[in-house]
Amino acid sequence: MAEKIILLPGDGIGPEVTEQARLVLEKAGAKAGLSFEFEEELIGGCSIDAHGTPLREEVIEKCRGSRSVLLGAVGGPKWDDMPVDVRPEKGLLAIRKALGLFANLRPAQVMPALVNASALRPEIVEGVDMLVVRELTGGIYFGEPRGRSGEKGNRSAVNAMVYDEHEVARITRVAFEQARLRRHHVTHVHKANVLDVSQLWMEVVDEVAKEYPDVELAHQLVDSCAMLLVQEPKRFDVIVTGNLFGDILSDEAAMITGSLGMLPSASLAEGGFGLFEPVHGSAPDIAGKDLANPLAAIQSAAMLLETAFGAKEAAGAIRKAVTDVLDAGHRSGDLILPGESRETVGCKRMGELVLEALA
Ligand code: NAD
Repeated sequence: MAEKIILLPGDGIGPEVTEQARLVLEKAGAKAGLSFEFEEELIGGCSIDAHGTPLREEVIEKCRGSRSVLLGAVGGPKWDDMPVDVRPEKGLLAIRKALGLFANLRPAQVMPALVNASALRPEIVEGVDMLVVRELTGGIYFGEPRGRSGEKGNRSAVNAMVYDEHEVARITRVAFEQARLRRHHVTHVHKANVLDVSQLWMEVVDEVAKEYPDVELAHQLVDSCAMLLVQEPKRFDVIVTGNLFGDILSDEAAMITGSLGMLPSASLAEGGFGLFEPVHGSAPDIAGKDLANPLAAIQSAAMLLETAFGAKEAAGAIRKAVTDVLDAGHRSGDLILPGESRETVGCKRMGELVLEALA
């Protein structure tokens, strides 16, 4: 029976990269004995244009009735002046909340062929392979009380960082399960020297760690973690942390790789349901020109196969195909370094090259 996947290509380069990811998913899935039924829906600016809202309830319902969601990107200058509540990005927050996507997984891996793309020295980044597991539906972005009060001269604002132990325990388990698939090491990032919330995290992470005696655990203050990430990024395997620290550190980890167009992500709900999307935005500057790098979206498809269907070999085959294409010297515009003279490969062609390498 065909497995239902909802495609939400979104805005800008979203549709271009999602199409290549779909083709690769279909081919790699077929090799693993999986067949997919795709249904495309609107999210973000295109949904505002068509329906006046960035995300409709019926789209959420379709997602709930599917095995997984593959998303492109949302947003663009056309919608930048709209009220915050109906901006394209609101669609992303709404879908995360509606689907209970509490665990955000962001791998940051430096591929040998792209070691010079990083702003850091090659000997520092060579071999970097880490995964940031960020809690996505709690913490300071959602905590109450929140808001502003007072008039000019007497203004104040408040946001509250709130976590309960259930939220901490479930994200910690995701991190430990991921570590078991990798190098068996988890770093919990916190600010327990000043925050009560972090002290709760320390206690709960330690308790959950007892269920995973085969995985090593370290606790790291968020400020020193930010420094270590650029000084010695290779020391990290899995990082687990709350929403705010994870937001910042996952972007820092991403930049170590130096290539936004390469980075996939997964956002998971309890029970394994997930939404998979590239880390990059809608890149309006290159949209519709066949210039986008589809490899982040394609690697998001690999995460989908692995996480939602347990199809590890098929996911590995996609990653190997991507590596082979890069090793053969093919580069989209974003991967060409200043001063390098190479032919630029377009979005479609890059997708074709991966499909050929998969065969
Ligand atoms: P961006 O990621 O869209 O682009 C940053 C730069 O990287 C641009 O120069 C772009 O051309 C380049 N780039 C990004 N992805 C690329 C790819 N796959 N191939 C080649 N080059 C690529 O970030 P931005 O410019 O800050 O934001 C543009 C729009 O995207 C905004 O509306 C923003 O709100 C939205 N956005 C959406 C998401 C999302 O949907 N998850 C994430 C970030 C930003």
